[in-house]
Amino acid sequence: MRELDPDVVPHLSRFFFLRRESDKVVYAYLPHQALRTASLHPCEAVALALIDGERSWRQVAAALSAVSGEPPPEAAGFLARLVSDIDPRGEIVREAGASEGRRYAPEDFLVPAERLDLESRLEAPFAMILKPTSRCKTNCLYCYAPRQDAGRKREMSLERILQLLREAHGIGVRQVNLCGGDGFARSDFLSIVEEAVGLGFVTDISTKVPLTEGQARRLAASGLDYLQVSIDSADAAISDKMVGRRGHHAALLQSIRDLKAAGLYVRTNTVVTRHNVTTMAQTVEMLAGLGIDNIKISPAFPSQHLEGADYVICEEEAEALEEEVARLQRQWGPRGVDVLYSRLKPAEAMGPEEKRRFWFHGRGRCSGGRSAVFVTPEGKVTLCEQVPHHAPFVVGDLAHQSLLEVWNSPEALAMAYPERAAFAGTLCENCSDFDLCAVKRGHCFRDSWFAHRRLTGPSPYCPHNRLAA
Ligand code: SF4
Ligand code: SF4
Repeated sequence: MRELDPDVVPHLSRFFFLRRESDKVVYAYLPHQALRTASLHPCEAVALALIDGERSWRQVAAALSAVSGEPPPEAAGFLARLVSDIDPRGEIVREAGASEGRRYAPEDFLVPAERLDLESRLEAPFAMILKPTSRCKTNCLYCYAPRQDAGRKREMSLERILQLLREAHGIGVRQVNLCGGDGFARSDFLSIVEEAVGLGFVTDISTKVPLTEGQARRLAASGLDYLQVSIDSADAAISDKMVGRRGHHAALLQSIRDLKAAGLYVRTNTVVTRHNVTTMAQTVEMLAGLGIDNIKISPAFPSQHLEGADYVICEEEAEALEEEVARLQRQWGPRGVDVLYSRLKPAEAMGPEEKRRFWFHGRGRCSGGRSAVFVTPEGKVTLCEQVPHHAPFVVGDLAHQSLLEVWNSPEALAMAYPERAAFAGTLCENCSDFDLCAVKRGHCFRDSWFAHRRLTGPSPYCPHNRLAA
């Protein structure tokens, strides 16, 4: 349990959002490129709202005692349990660092007891993944994006996208991921970013496009606080080969310099394939030399939209890479440079026990239609960005529906919360783990589709799925 020092003044992270709904309060913790949501009892929400960056823990407990009628020691115990429960790592309720966090009015979170239902679905999404374009300025040999509709003709207009951002903000969406393609393939992309940041969204952008000095300055002036640049190697020839464009590497390095000079926080992502796997030490050194202190290393996985996957590293290469990354973390960590690494082992490389741990406990809860939605360049809505942008995945069309209408549509509900009957004829139909797997953690329709070409059925990671072993 977290120890709360009575003299310390806590504050709420700026990435923490509380929202009152008709039958509950919900919170979302939305740091860049991550999403966590849950329901709160109104008493919990009121207690959190008393943390205003001015009261010490002693004063928060006294205020909670005054509103609840509980003696101060009980109120302090309630706070300690609540904070430990929702925030064991101290990310949401912070006791150090900049104190200009979020503030809420406790009285906004009172919900009549007779209406209370902590199990009901979110009344609106918290995150929107918006793909303003499928176009791109590179042609990466590991491209994951479905680029079948990469033409500009069917893309939503700038005006419609700005309207959609305002609509999303109005219903409670607080994080927007402007993905692609590459947003910068649109000449009006900066206006989209400016609107998103101006509305107060946590705005995620990842790009590979070398930006001009002027673009870098305009991005910084928008207030954008975070930009991910993808750069694959310190070796220019390898880097250019991986993105299919000669001269790209040099231009991208200049772009990073310009972005940093404009005052933007830049983090990088390096996709690892067989082509660049031996260049990680030089790559980290080069990026650290450019002033990057957050370097992500992401081994490529087989793209569902490309023929063949001979670029993907094998298990032996992955093991050697993991050792190399651990060495780089030891080398650079003490110098203030975080080297992050994430790789999901292929299902066929996992043993039954490993699969069980991953499938029932390790994988994140599905956000598709539960806390997030995805919007295609034409304004079609699917529940997740990793599935094809066509039927049967499309659950709505923003050309003639509002975002909330789509969110509450029978199509969206049937996909986000499929009934057992929808799994008829599959291993899942009579599975004793159905509630934990498909209801609690969420059914992964991406996995089912790419494994079976249908929306339901066991994932290759399912420990009961012997065919995938
Ligand atoms: S994927 Fe299907 S069979 Fe596997 S645990 Fe989930 S519900 Fe059960
Ligand atoms: S459907 Fe699968 S890939 Fe998509 S959000 Fe859910 S768990 Fe993730």
